[in-house]
Amino acid sequence: MEKTIIIGSGPAGWTAGIYAARASLSPLLIEGLATQENQEKNRLPMGQIALTTEVENFPGFPPGDLGGYLDSAISKSRKNMLPPRDAGITGVSGPELVELIRAQAVHFGTRVVSDDIIDVDFSQLPYKLFGAAGNIYETQTVIIATGAVANFLGLESENRFKNHGVSACAVCDGALPRFRNKPLAVIGGGDAAVEEAEYLTKFTSKIYLIHRRDQLRASKIVVKRAMEHSAIEILWNRVPEEILGNDKDGVTGVRLKSTVGEPVLELAISGLFVAIGHTPNTEFLKGKLALTEKGFIARPIPFRTNTSVPGVFTAGDVADDYYRQAISAAATGCMAAINAERYLASL
Ligand SMILES: Cc1cc2nc3c(=O)[nH]c(=O)nc-3n(C[C@H](O)[C@H](O)[C@H](O)COP(=O)(O)OP(=O)(O)OC[C@H]3O[C@@H](n4cnc5c(N)ncnc54)[C@H](O)[C@@H]3O)c2cc1C
Repeated sequence: MEKTIIIGSGPAGWTAGIYAARASLSPLLIEGLATQENQEKNRLPMGQIALTTEVENFPGFPPGDLGGYLDSAISKSRKNMLPPRDAGITGVSGPELVELIRAQAVHFGTRVVSDDIIDVDFSQLPYKLFGAAGNIYETQTVIIATGAVANFLGLESENRFKNHGVSACAVCDGALPRFRNKPLAVIGGGDAAVEEAEYLTKFTSKIYLIHRRDQLRASKIVVKRAMEHSAIEILWNRVPEEILGNDKDGVTGVRLKSTVGEPVLELAISGLFVAIGHTPNTEFLKGKLALTEKGFIARPIPFRTNTSVPGVFTAGDVADDYYRQAISAAATGCMAAINAERYLASL
């Protein structure tokens, strides 16, 4: 039986691994499987941050030449698996960042298995985790760090321009030079979409907020602010039909169809932010512990990583539909491992 099993291999999971290993819990980390199905759902080992090219906001990585450091910190076989860096990246890339956190966790003794957890039994100790290929893992404590996947529109052209003008996170990407002082568009009608549009007004003076209905779902106060903001123009009853662009410039425009029979509209933009929600990876937890209305793991104690089940802790975006950053995920990974260590000590 394991002392601690961590499910998930993003910044939250690996950081939990660092702390749990250093606390002599000899953690086992289940990293997920790189199956076709997971790829289609954007739910691959190494997590969401590995889907992005440049990470400018993770503390400790200012622009600079990381070449020698990466060579010495990451094994050659793992380094060969990293995707080539995009030209022009001056700091750390997403895949490099999470590979470095992984290397640190493995260095301290975190053990890694590739598997997807498809079911759990938290009804009695030892807790049981059921893997996709039939393996059963038994453990005293669990840290769930399975993340949440950003929802996209599902257009082929959207896929083509991801990281080249299409983004799902204004806080992550809004400050990049490609978006500064350029017309941008945000898709969505909830609080998150309006907040993304407002956030982008720091970098540019023209943002189209595109919504498929004739009113926003966001709360009244947020809607009022958006409607009164001189940089935000709301386009009602519109949905993207195709994202326009080329290999050199990335996104250059978007073609919008009308949901109420108006003619097609083409906008010149340099960036499109998709803010239509996140899907937490919690299907295998339904009925096993408390989830929020949106399906994220509920944390009954404020500012703690406890779940509704004693000895089961959570970290990262799977329990966070608000901050959704690599650093906040890593921070809660640290907290969950400390919780697991203290829980075991108390038994
Ligand atoms: C395109 C993009 C760009 C971003 N850019 C930035 C940025 O610049 N800066 C920033 O701070 N944040 C950025 N973010 C947000 C950041 O990536 C996330 O906040 C962060 O990755 C969350 O970490 P996590 O460990 O909680 O979850 P994730 O990174 O999502 O990792 C979850 C892991 O769990 C695994 N998993 C899921 N289900 C199972 C299961 N059933 N069994 C086993 N394993 C499972 C997955 O394979 C995955 O490895 C970006 C996100 C995206 C999508």
